[in-house]
Amino acid sequence: MIINSLIKQGSKILKKQNIDSHQIDAELLLSKAIRKDRVFLLTNDEYKVSQKETSDYLNFILRRKHHEPLSYIIKRKEFWSLGFNVNHNVLIPRPETETIVEQVVRRFKGKGSLNILDIGTGSGCILLSILKELTNSYGTGIDKSFKALNMAKKNSRKLNLLQRAKFIHCDVDNFNLGNYDVIVSNPPYICSRRIGYLDEDIKGFEPRMALDGGSSGLETITKVIIKAKKLLKTRGHLFMEIGNGQFRMVSSVLIKNGLRLVKKFFDYNKTIRCIMSTKII
Ligand code: GLN
Repeated sequence: MIINSLIKQGSKILKKQNIDSHQIDAELLLSKAIRKDRVFLLTNDEYKVSQKETSDYLNFILRRKHHEPLSYIIKRKEFWSLGFNVNHNVLIPRPETETIVEQVVRRFKGKGSLNILDIGTGSGCILLSILKELTNSYGTGIDKSFKALNMAKKNSRKLNLLQRAKFIHCDVDNFNLGNYDVIVSNPPYICSRRIGYLDEDIKGFEPRMALDGGSSGLETITKVIIKAKKLLKTRGHLFMEIGNGQFRMVSSVLIKNGLRLVKKFFDYNKTIRCIMSTKII
């Protein structure tokens, strides 16, 4: 079959499942199946696709039809204009998480060497994007998922950051190593009872461990704050992603734990998505 008809066919199947991105998803899945970029697809719509490639493509469409996220099928997600490898062991990097990277880079670019800790690093997208920009800085990523860490290491290698990034298999409670200028984290912050209401793409496929913030949604956030108090240098900063409507509660946990100077940053949807807090003493 030719490119044009395959895209039409795939897009129609996905549209029937109410997948809004049916057209672009079909294009990207075909592009993956024939190992050519999207521009090739759009400029060669009469190109004849082999039988093997057609069957790979239809298989991808079937997976997407059952709501598997596109990024898991193509094994890749762009974040901060960098290409990250992903699989079902890591949360797919979200555009709103770029807020943390943006704030850290804006504040520290060109200002010397930092020692950075990323708690719950997942794919490594936050830490590695920051290290790409702050070229004199070093970082440690920790995660309780061994499989997630393997992906972070793979990304570190791909981005040529093996010399400046290290990854340690450990959960936040048991990690007590080092002294940091900056701690970053996108912890799980969704209330357990709300997980069931998330999109099928998320709740059916992404690691629950990376989403579930316990009954209040604040369980891991609180652990990260306690750890930041312990491992930050004096006047060091914590940059953390938080969930919708959590700002006031998170501020009070910060203050209770002796961290101060709360700043809030908004994501592309004008929602408070990231806080910065400073250790004063
Ligand atoms: N932003 C993610 C979502 O809405 C949640 C990420 C997280 O819990 N840290 O699915």
